[in-house]
Amino acid sequence: DTTAEVRIRAALDAVPAYVAGKPPAPRDGLTVYKVSSNENPYPPLPSVLEAVRDAAGAINRYPDMGVSALTEALAKRLAVPAARIATGTGSVGVLGQIIQATCDDGDEVVFAWRSFEAYPIVVSLAGAVPVAVPLTEEHRHDLPAMRAAITDRTRVVLVCTPNNPTGPTVTHEELVDFVEQVPRDVLVVIDEAYLEFVEGEDAVRALEIHQAYPHVAVLRTFSKAYGLAGLRVGYAVAHEPLAEALRKTATPFGVNTLAQVAALASLDAQDELDARVADLVAERARVVAALREQGWDVPQSGANFVWFPLRERTAAFVQACEQAGLSVRPYGSDGVRVTIGEPEANDRLIDVAAAFGP
Ligand code: PMP
Repeated sequence: DTTAEVRIRAALDAVPAYVAGKPPAPRDGLTVYKVSSNENPYPPLPSVLEAVRDAAGAINRYPDMGVSALTEALAKRLAVPAARIATGTGSVGVLGQIIQATCDDGDEVVFAWRSFEAYPIVVSLAGAVPVAVPLTEEHRHDLPAMRAAITDRTRVVLVCTPNNPTGPTVTHEELVDFVEQVPRDVLVVIDEAYLEFVEGEDAVRALEIHQAYPHVAVLRTFSKAYGLAGLRVGYAVAHEPLAEALRKTATPFGVNTLAQVAALASLDAQDELDARVADLVAERARVVAALREQGWDVPQSGANFVWFPLRERTAAFVQACEQAGLSVRPYGSDGVRVTIGEPEANDRLIDVAAAFGP
């Protein structure tokens, strides 16, 4: 009998499953594109691959548990003390560490919705309670409503800018004003997974807000602009007591050897990566302009994706994209998120959108 009598925590029943972006189905005579996971379409840089190859000879050894070379390099780049940087297995891993470090059972974590789908998962896995505050009609964070959702049980507020999956940014002034109103014993996490794709005047200066407010931490990743999604490395910049707690809640040796060297080599290749990001930002502008020309009301995006608020037409649009060899990401009956990919993938999206009609 293989039926287990092992007890599984009943609370897990309430934890939603993470639905990962699908790879596209192969098609005869048609190149297919995966534009469902906000990945960087460029292949790894030669210098990064070389660093990974060099390090691969030592994978019989455990990684540097302190992630010291990468942490030092980040500290220097960001001009913050190394003691304020905590790394983890992707920023989603770091987020889990943050919730574990701050929340007891039943404590509340406030975030906008829709936003990154891992938020309610990570929060409920830690035994905390997700409090989802609807976005505005313009698909933006409703910061006054988020402020109003804070109770005595709230330990953390997550602010995702640009917001995944809808794209808009919170402005710097809005965010400072919000942080100012949040009680000082409630942590505000600014999730900047897509920071590098934000155009100058729209960017929040999150590190500056962190410097000014002890209850603010910044969350970043190497998965998007840096193109290392497959290696799983992210980090938080947090004031020392929290950063120290994050080192305690980390999976021991969670950031593997290859991830450490690849992230470090990527920091050394900043100019090349910036040029790729600039190309993706230009492609985003091209796609958004073409869609608007067609009459689509897509929100301004500060990230490497666009949001189609299609409601009841969501499934039909996904099907039209699949027919054209594009694997995209539906969100219930809210809409569809499409990653900015290779120029050919973007061309195809423009064609599908034209044929489907706004
Ligand atoms: N935050 C946001 C807003 C995201 O969209 C993602 C990835 N989809 C992450 C965090 C996590 O990325 P990773 O774990 O790969 O660093």
